[in-house]
Amino acid sequence: MPFTWSDRHRLHDPGGEVWVGVRTPGTELPARADAIRDAIAAAGARPVEAVAREREALLAVHDRELLDHLESAWESWRAAGLTDDPGQDRVVPYVFPHPALLGGLDPAIPPSTAARAGYFAYDTMTLIGPGTWEAARGAAEAALGAAELVAGGEPAAYALCRPPGHHATRSAFGGSCYLNNAAIAAASLREAVEGPVALLDVDAHHGNGAQAIFYEDPAVLTASVHVDPGAGWFPHFIGFSSERGAGPGQDANLNVPLEPGSGDGPWLAAVGEIAGWAAGAGVRGLVVALGVDAAAGDPESPLEVSAEGYREAGRLLGALGLPTVVVQEGGYDVGVIGSLVVAALEGLERGLGTAPDPG
Ligand SMILES: [Zn+2]
Repeated sequence: MPFTWSDRHRLHDPGGEVWVGVRTPGTELPARADAIRDAIAAAGARPVEAVAREREALLAVHDRELLDHLESAWESWRAAGLTDDPGQDRVVPYVFPHPALLGGLDPAIPPSTAARAGYFAYDTMTLIGPGTWEAARGAAEAALGAAELVAGGEPAAYALCRPPGHHATRSAFGGSCYLNNAAIAAASLREAVEGPVALLDVDAHHGNGAQAIFYEDPAVLTASVHVDPGAGWFPHFIGFSSERGAGPGQDANLNVPLEPGSGDGPWLAAVGEIAGWAAGAGVRGLVVALGVDAAAGDPESPLEVSAEGYREAGRLLGALGLPTVVVQEGGYDVGVIGSLVVAALEGLERGLGTAPDPG
């Protein structure tokens, strides 16, 4: 299948993350995307360079104010002298508009550069450096490109997005994500197929961004299989099975949290559950938020899924027989993530019935 990609991802070097106030090395590194690219190209996937778009293409999913911030934050930070005093070389927030601070009022967008960082970011782990905006745009453009390939008749296409996107909401970013690539693909695919689509997230962590963006929207069903936030995992505050959508989107969201250490059996049962749920709703297109960080050995999750588990998950999702856009999310064990993505995509092609003849 074709894959879309932008080498602008390398411009984004987050320089680690600030966790509990300490700068740690982080795991969302440029080497991730290059490793995946090498593996899928070796397996026969066809590269398609992402093409630049007007910024307006992102407004289906994100507020203009968030885009303005992401575009200008690094330069504002540098111009404000924060790189010299106190000597912070990335944009890092220090104060947040917590609901209990606001007492029901809307927050102002602060003129202070340091305070503005906390208006748009909801954690301290997701740092902005000089190339972050260009890289995030390249990833979003790859997602749009994959959606357009599918709209043009490809049975499936894979967007090799970095940085990942599924934790980014309409108006805020976090969780190593800046723009919600999968949500952008879903909004585009929904227009192309003229009907509801499903965004199914199999990353090890809850797909809180798409859930928030489409929570009241019945035209994009959202579902996520992930490690139980109640067991101590990001995004901690949401991602529970009681969250089912609201208003016109009531019952258009499904969360299947899993216990740490689940392994293939419960994980594949959960993937089958969300796939069956989407099929039962009569969707006309599918976006898969493919994180491979549920794999055994990944430093960011305890779900213990095998490569064969990913292959079978791909087959289950492909068997829905829908026009399918796969969007890369997490996966941090650089030595194996390429082979995990290959397994998932080969499984998907098998499920769709488009796998190349092995003879
Ligand atoms: Zn993840």
